[in-house]
Amino acid sequence: MRINVHAGHNADGRIACGAIGFIRESTEARRVKDAVIGMLRQLGHTVYDCTVDYASGVNDNLRKIVALCNAHEVDLDVSIHLNSGANDTSGNGKTTGVEVYVYNPSSKAKACAERVCQAIARLGFRNRGVKCKGFYVLKNTKAPAMLVECCFVDDRDDVQLYDCQEMAEAIVFGITRVQITAEQPDADQEPVASEEETAVGDKDLKYQIRLGTYTVKKYAEAKLAEAKEKGLDAIMVKV
Ligand SMILES: [Zn+2]
Repeated sequence: MRINVHAGHNADGRIACGAIGFIRESTEARRVKDAVIGMLRQLGHTVYDCTVDYASGVNDNLRKIVALCNAHEVDLDVSIHLNSGANDTSGNGKTTGVEVYVYNPSSKAKACAERVCQAIARLGFRNRGVKCKGFYVLKNTKAPAMLVECCFVDDRDDVQLYDCQEMAEAIVFGITRVQITAEQPDADQEPVASEEETAVGDKDLKYQIRLGTYTVKKYAEAKLAEAKEKGLDAIMVKV
């Protein structure tokens, strides 16, 4: 597939940046966007990053994004945002959740939008569903388009649950139906051997400690760096 992906709004700290709550929309949308683009490319798709970090205002930002999007022939336009307006600062134990917008009910992006919504809901976010709205980017982009409001920046429950990598994986799954999962190491899986057991070893038998298996190299590199930081003599191998 050929796909345009962009994070909404100007970058944080500038005019016309996104919503600010416990986390900042412009910053997180860019983190999710970068992870989504990395995974889509790793799966062999052609992806164009149409994010605009600086424009003179809201309308200029939208116009520039649409111009970048329409400069490419693509199958899908994906706009990544985080929502606000929940105003749940203390945390009521419930997320406000995810919603995905398409231009109208006959949008060719609708089925994809439903899958993205469901995939994000599976992470534990309330599914607010796919909605139709004439947002500027949805109306003016040539290809089928969807706008993902991942979760709410001003809901403590949403923010506690939010993980950039998981969010990106859910979006990629919605688009491609391919699940990319960075395995988490499970430290409690095996009991720790006693000194006696470890002392007697078989020379031909080697024991490998794995910290995880990743399909995206940069996540493997990040895990390797983390292990080294903890003083572990870890190496990365291709499997
Ligand atoms: Zn937004």
